[in-house]
Amino acid sequence: MQRSTSYPFALQNEFIPSNSQSHDFPSLPNAYLFVFYKGKILVTENGGKLHIPTNTIEQFNQQNIIYRRFMGMYCNTPCYIMELNEISAYNESLPRVNLRELFGAIADDLFSLAGKALQILSWHQENKFCGKCAAPMTDHDDELAKQCTACEHIVYPRISPVVIMTIEKGDSILLGRSPHFPKGMYSPLAGFVEAGETLEEAVIREIHEEVDIEVCNISYAASQPWPFPHSLMIGFRADYFSGKISIDTNELEDARWFHVDNLPVLPSPISISRHLMNLFLHEHGR
Ligand SMILES: [Zn+2]
Repeated sequence: MQRSTSYPFALQNEFIPSNSQSHDFPSLPNAYLFVFYKGKILVTENGGKLHIPTNTIEQFNQQNIIYRRFMGMYCNTPCYIMELNEISAYNESLPRVNLRELFGAIADDLFSLAGKALQILSWHQENKFCGKCAAPMTDHDDELAKQCTACEHIVYPRISPVVIMTIEKGDSILLGRSPHFPKGMYSPLAGFVEAGETLEEAVIREIHEEVDIEVCNISYAASQPWPFPHSLMIGFRADYFSGKISIDTNELEDARWFHVDNLPVLPSPISISRHLMNLFLHEHGR
């Protein structure tokens, strides 16, 4: 089912999550199987394109499955998360890739669901025992949560908010590059939100720390889940207020103002950093 309204980076089609794990696993043909082995996801290859495997859940060798969770229904098709401890003859032929390699290589909705699956699996792996009393944890009956079998402590999947923001001054924009960026690529600045901070405070602090600039008119633009490993990118636009660029060399290799007609290599078109850039370009009629 196509959704009537759509926001950037949101699923385009209907997904009904299943947070309850108390019912039986629906055994329907052509389920989406998000199968992980040693941190990599199993995919199928057809005509040079990668796909998420679709099959009945029984097709995977049951003995190799050390974790299985029904994630929900996507377009009336069940979605499962599975972790294998061994590769069987059946799935030995399937390519195994890092999730990052699927970014832009498969349908956007399926990449988002694969990211969700990996985040849930990582959360499961990291929370088998209670952080308060060390007793085993069990899946909560009605929500996506784990509960301690002894002290009832509850943990939810970890989400780490990151602010990412453009700084605009007339028809120029401030972009920076980290040492690990591809050659020539610049991007809006970004940083993790700290405990006890509002998002706007995080924007102001990060910009101050990284380039020593003061900004004003901070406005929310969009968000994007970023499952590497569990970030939520929250995008803002801000106007330059005062200061001269002074770079924190622990974080950045370079940062400078770019004129709208003289931009460097930009990030992937399906990233929030590019989305923020596009808002700036659009506003200047480009
Ligand atoms: Zn406990």
